[in-house]
Amino acid sequence: MALRNLVLEGDPLLRKTSRPVDEITPRIIKLLDDMADTMYFEGRGIGIAAPQVGVLRRVFVVDVGDEHGKLEFINPEIIESSGSQVDGEGCLSVPGKTCEVERPEHIKVKALNRDGEEFILEADGLLARCICHENDHLNGILFIDKSVDGKIYSTESEEE
Ligand code: ZN
Repeated sequence: MALRNLVLEGDPLLRKTSRPVDEITPRIIKLLDDMADTMYFEGRGIGIAAPQVGVLRRVFVVDVGDEHGKLEFINPEIIESSGSQVDGEGCLSVPGKTCEVERPEHIKVKALNRDGEEFILEADGLLARCICHENDHLNGILFIDKSVDGKIYSTESEEE
């Protein structure tokens, strides 16, 4: 198990656009493993994107605690979205803050797994929200940019 340091809000790395992965090397596999370790550390997160550990590659990992378990996405692309949901979000890179964000209720996402195989996943509810949140990280977008009422709230310990 290896933890990576989290990049926090204010660091310009979080505002950059990540590059696609052109080859799934052992380094990328290690990145995926370390990202999951970092996400699960003390049960803190339900998703993490590579820029949050300082790597500007189009990779993220999510586990919202449903039947899907841990899901890894390499070069993800949201190919369909529909409906709408508004709920509170948090982020490992934005500790102590939350706000209400509108996301699609249903999405279809295409990506590669760690074996380089393409898959398409349909997701709704929290999983759709989480995937959209992580996908935004790959484009330098943070959830606090999308507050539906323009307000950002403090939390004591609630983080996603
Ligand atoms: Zn985040």
